[in-house]
Amino acid sequence: MLYYSTNRQSDPVSLREAVIGGMPADGGLFMPMELPVIPASFFQSIDMLTFREIAFDVALAFLGDDVPSGILAGIVDDAFDFPMPLKEVEENLFSLELYHGPTMAFKDVGARFMSRLMSYLYRNEKKELNVVVATSGDTGSAVAAGFYNVSGINVFVLFPKSQVSPLQQKQITTWGGNIHAIEVDGSFDDCQKLSKELLGDRELNSRIAVTSANSINIARLIPQSFYYFYTYSQLKKSGLPLVFSVPSGNFGNLTGGLMARASGLPVHRFIASTNINDVFKRFIETGIYSPSRSRQTISSAMDVGDPSNFVRIRDMVGNTMSGLENIILSYSFTDELTSKAIAEVYRNSGYIMDPHGAVACLGAKQYLLEHNEKVNTVFLETAHPAKFPEIMENILDGYGEMPSQLQSVLNKTEKYHKAGNDLQELKEHIKDINRI
Ligand SMILES: *Cc1c(COP(=O)(O)O)cnc(C)c1O
Repeated sequence: MLYYSTNRQSDPVSLREAVIGGMPADGGLFMPMELPVIPASFFQSIDMLTFREIAFDVALAFLGDDVPSGILAGIVDDAFDFPMPLKEVEENLFSLELYHGPTMAFKDVGARFMSRLMSYLYRNEKKELNVVVATSGDTGSAVAAGFYNVSGINVFVLFPKSQVSPLQQKQITTWGGNIHAIEVDGSFDDCQKLSKELLGDRELNSRIAVTSANSINIARLIPQSFYYFYTYSQLKKSGLPLVFSVPSGNFGNLTGGLMARASGLPVHRFIASTNINDVFKRFIETGIYSPSRSRQTISSAMDVGDPSNFVRIRDMVGNTMSGLENIILSYSFTDELTSKAIAEVYRNSGYIMDPHGAVACLGAKQYLLEHNEKVNTVFLETAHPAKFPEIMENILDGYGEMPSQLQSVLNKTEKYHKAGNDLQELKEHIKDINRI
């Protein structure tokens, strides 16, 4: 299978080039030339399959031309060693918990699969591969966890000084080994800019191999389609149409869902649920895409003013508004409504949502209010509430849960390099690690 650029100015490339290269030269994003068509027979018996079996079959449909099935089976089994439970919160309202991986956020799903696929595709190279990732919190630790101890790969996690939570910083800076944390004296945007400059730096790239692990990488999106199939498998027997509400920031999660649907998964509607960073909702309402500066909210992983996967969605659904209207709706919610929803759902059902999942829950409820349809709504729960102790304690008095994965990191010693906000300094550090 070849991968084309959404800008269509660069030539299509192989899977290896798309995954290791990360981004086309024309500034677009890679997409598969053809989305696979998953045969109807698969859906007839899908409810007999486990998550790993479903993930393997879908992965084979996407990647089977390029990766031997035995290897793919190994990647799937190794990457998905944690559960993704679907819980009924209220009648016809379900939570799909994607946060039981090592860093307790849904980014583990994409990062663990990508890291294993990347190291397979890179296996015959002599030079070490240097993976650079800019993070505002969750991505850095998920990518670090995915690549930890993978031989032949160095990871450089760029995080903004004083702008990630203390817990998130621990999750980034306490790995050691092949994981190198770097504090940038600037914002997340500065981290992203430096990361792009490293990727494009000719002198550096002539001496060492550099790639990116940010969500623009197609290898993170393909696995983000698997759990949509898995949800369908569990709700199929009800016979009701399926509506997914996706808490969205850079829209990689939703793109995974759209890829699943384009491959044959019966999905009635997607809801792009956002906080007040509502550029996508405004696009659906007006047909005009006008990115803006991001505003801070309690669902901070969704504070994105110019979602990077927007071009992929536009490419898949078509530029016409009618294409979008039939498939995707968008709702946005304030922090106040989000906090209220967390408190209310807890009071009514005892279920505890994190601020990101709560935005998606609100989207699902809004849909049910506005549409007189008998459907199953599923909201994606993308982070464990304990990742946001200060916020949760404010909303739910006495909230004190701390799962062992998070507890253990608190006692570890932080180690990171301070790079100021300077490309040269960063390059020297990366060269040092590469012993050149
Ligand atoms: C990254 C993230 C999101 C947003 O996902 P996108 O794919 O960027 O839309 C939502 N919730 C959490 C907890 C995240 O870490």
